Amino acid sequence: MYNLYIPLCGLVLNIILFILYVWKVNNVGGENRFYFAMLVDTFIMTLFCIAAISLIYIGYSQEIIKLANKIECFAIFNYFINLFMYVVYICNLRSKNQISIYWIINIIMFLAIFLTPVRLELTNDLTYMVSTGFSVNITTLASSLVLLMTFILAIKNKNKLKEKIIPIILLLVFIVVVVIIRGLIPEFICLEFLATVAMLIMYFTIENPDVKMANQLEIAKEQAEKANQAKTEFLSSMSHEIRTPLNAIVGFSEAIVNAQSLEEAKENSKDIIDASNTLLDIVNGILDISKIESGKLEIINSPYDAKEVFESVGKLIKPRIEEKGIEFKMFIAEDLPPVLYGDYANVKKIITNLLTNAAKYTDKGEICYRVNCIKEKNICRLIISIEDTGSGIKKESIDKLFTKFERLEEKNTTIEGTGLGLAITKQIVGLMGGEIIVQSVYGSGSKFTVALNQRIEKIDLKAIKKEEITGNIDLSGKKILVVDDNKLNLKVASKVLGKYNPTLDLVDSGIAAIEKIKNKEYYDLILMDDMMPKLSGVETLKELKKIEGFSIPTIALTANAISGMKEKYLSDGFNDYLAKPINKVELERVLRTIFSDKKEKIDKFAPLPKELYQMDKTLTDIKIDYNELNHIKEKSEEQIKVELKSKEEILINNGVDLKHSLEFLGNMQMYNETLQEFINEINNKLNKLEEYKEMDNMEDYRILIHSIKSDAKYLGFKQLAEKSYQHEMKSKEKDIQYIKEDFEILKEMINKIIAISKEYLKEV
Ligand code: ADP
Repeated sequence: MYNLYIPLCGLVLNIILFILYVWKVNNVGGENRFYFAMLVDTFIMTLFCIAAISLIYIGYSQEIIKLANKIECFAIFNYFINLFMYVVYICNLRSKNQISIYWIINIIMFLAIFLTPVRLELTNDLTYMVSTGFSVNITTLASSLVLLMTFILAIKNKNKLKEKIIPIILLLVFIVVVVIIRGLIPEFICLEFLATVAMLIMYFTIENPDVKMANQLEIAKEQAEKANQAKTEFLSSMSHEIRTPLNAIVGFSEAIVNAQSLEEAKENSKDIIDASNTLLDIVNGILDISKIESGKLEIINSPYDAKEVFESVGKLIKPRIEEKGIEFKMFIAEDLPPVLYGDYANVKKIITNLLTNAAKYTDKGEICYRVNCIKEKNICRLIISIEDTGSGIKKESIDKLFTKFERLEEKNTTIEGTGLGLAITKQIVGLMGGEIIVQSVYGSGSKFTVALNQRIEKIDLKAIKKEEITGNIDLSGKKILVVDDNKLNLKVASKVLGKYNPTLDLVDSGIAAIEKIKNKEYYDLILMDDMMPKLSGVETLKELKKIEGFSIPTIALTANAISGMKEKYLSDGFNDYLAKPINKVELERVLRTIFSDKKEKIDKFAPLPKELYQMDKTLTDIKIDYNELNHIKEKSEEQIKVELKSKEEILINNGVDLKHSLEFLGNMQMYNETLQEFINEINNKLNKLEEYKEMDNMEDYRILIHSIKSDAKYLGFKQLAEKSYQHEMKSKEKDIQYIKEDFEILKEMINKIIAISKEYLKEV
C-alpha cells in the first residue's frame, strides 16, 4: 500500500495548485493555456497511476489496468509536449501552422499508444507492477525527444527568455533527474508527484500572475520613460527651433525702432518677414507632424491631371535651383496616364519637400527630377526620384534622416530648415501606402526615390474643369441674408453678390438677423460678419442654432484673415469663411460648394433676368435683352485706367489708392456713392470715437475703429486703414495711453480725408 502514498500526496498537491491557479488567473490564454493543460495532464497521470495500483491490489482485470496505464502514458507525453509549447510561446516564436502540427502529433501519439501493446510485469512479491511494451517505449522515446528539443529551444532563445531562462533550465534539469530516477528505480513511483512539484516551481517563478504583473509593469515603466524622454527632447528642440527666428524678429524690430531712415527700417522689416516665414514653417511643420501622429491627417483622394501636377511642382522650384547656378533636369514619363486618382496635394508636398532639400543641400552640379510609371490594369505605380550632386549624407546618418528635428550636419545651421521636412514626408508617404528610399554617397550626392500606387482614372478632367471655370453662378431665386454692422460692408457685399442675381436682405446686427429667422423668413445662405457690437457673429450663430429647424448654411466674414481662421470658424459651426474685402474667386468657390452641395447644377449660360423670379411682374412684361445674357466681363486694367479722369486725380495725388478700390467697388459711380456715404457718417463716427476714448471704453472703441478701418480699405485710404489698424490693435490690448496720445494724429488724418473727399465730390 505504501506505493500509493507518494502519488496520493501528488494528487492533493495537484488539486491545491489547480484551485489556486483558477482562482488567481482570470485569463487563460497564450502560454497560460499550456500551463493549464500541463496541470490537467499531471492530474490525469496521477489519478490513473493511483487507479492502476489500486486495481492491482484488488486483482482487477488486466485489460482495465492496461487501459489505465495507456491513459497515463498519453498524459505523460502530453505533459512534455505542452511544456515544449509553453517555452515556444514565452519565446514569442508563434507561427501559423504550429497549433495544427501540435494537434497532429498528439493524435499520432494517441493512436501509437492506444493501438500498440503494453505488458504488465509483476514483481515476485506481487507488490509492484512494471509496464513495458511498445506503447510504453514509444512514450519514453517521444517524451525524451520533446524534452531534448525543449532544452535546445530554451538555450537558443536565452536572450528572449531573459530572466525566465534560469527557472526554465532548472525546471528542465529537475524533470530530467526525475525521469532518470524513474528509470533506475521503477518501483519508486514518484514521477507523478515530482511532475506536480515541477508545476509548483513554475507557478512560483514564472507563471504566478503577480510575478508576471511585476514584469509587465517593469516593461510599461520603461516604455513610459522612453516616451517621456522623447517628448522632453521634442519640446526642447522645438523651443530651440522657435527661439531662433523669434530672436531675429525681436532684434530686427528693435532695429526698426532705432532706425535712422525709412530705407533702413524697410530693410529690417524684410528680415522680420523672412524670420516670420521661418517661424510659420516651423509651426506649420509641427502642426503637420502632430496632425499625422494623432491620426488626424486625412488623405483626400480625387482625380487629378497627373502631368500638370508633376510639372507644376518642378516649374515652381526651378528658379530657386537655377538661381544657385545648378542645372535642373526634369523628366516626366510620356506614358503617364492623363488622369490619376489620389491625394495630389500631398503628392505635391512630398515632391516639394524633396526638391527643396536637393536645392538647399546642393551647391554645384545638377538636380534631376524624374517621374516614371509602371502600369498594371487600373493601377499606376509612380516612381518619383530626385537626384542631386550635393553634399550627400553619411551612411551612419541615414537612419536619423527621418527623425523629427534631426539636422545632420553642423554646417546646416547656416541653411534654413527645421529638420521636420523629411519626417513629415516619410509619414505622408506611409499614409498613402508608399515607400521612400534614400541612396547617398557622402560628398557626392543623394537620390531620394518615392514609389506610390495611384488609381488610373478614365475621365476627361479637362472637360470637367472647363465647365467649372466657364460655368456662371446663377443665384436667381436664391435668398441671401447679409449681416454686418458696417453699412459700407453691406453695400459692397450687395454689389459683389448682386452679380449672381440673388434676392438680398441686408441687416446691420446679429439681433436683427435672429429676429428675421424667428419670423420664419427663409434664406438659402447667410453671410455674417464676426466682429459686431453687442452680439458677435459667433454668438449670433450660436443663438440661431438654438432656433428649432435652423439649418441655413452660414459663412463667416472677417477682416482678420490669418491662417487658422478657417478652422476656428468651422469649429464655431460656420460652414465656411470669407476674408474681407471679399475676393471674387474665393466667393465663387464658397458659393459653388454651398449651392452645389444641394446638387444644384451650375448653369453654363448667363443668368436669366431677375424679374423672371419676381412674382410682381407678369412674364409678358419682362423684356429680355439677349445681349445682356452674355457673361459679365471683368473690367480690364485698361478700362479702369480710362475711367480715371482728371477729377479723380484729386484723390490719386493725395495718396488714395483708387485702382485698388475700384477692384472692389467696380466703377466710379459706386465709388462716389460709397464715398458720399462715408463722408456723411464719418463726423458722427469720429465724435463717438472721441467719446469712447474719454470714457476709456476700449471695447466699443475697438469695434468702431475696426469698421472705420474697413471703410478706409474699400475707399483706398491706405494710410488711414493702417492707422486705424494700429488703433484697433492697441484698443484690443487696452493700451489707453497710446490711444489718447495718438488720437490727434488719427483725427487729423480723418479731417484731411474729409477735406480731400469734399473737394473731389464737388467736382463730380
Ligand atoms: P531640414 O532640411 O529642414 O533640415 P529635413 O527633415 O528636410 O530638414 O532634412 C533633415 C536633414 O537631412 C537635413 O538637415 C540634411 O542634413 C539632410 N538632408 C536632407 N536632404 C538632403 C539632401 N538632398 N542632401 C544632403 N543632405 C540632406
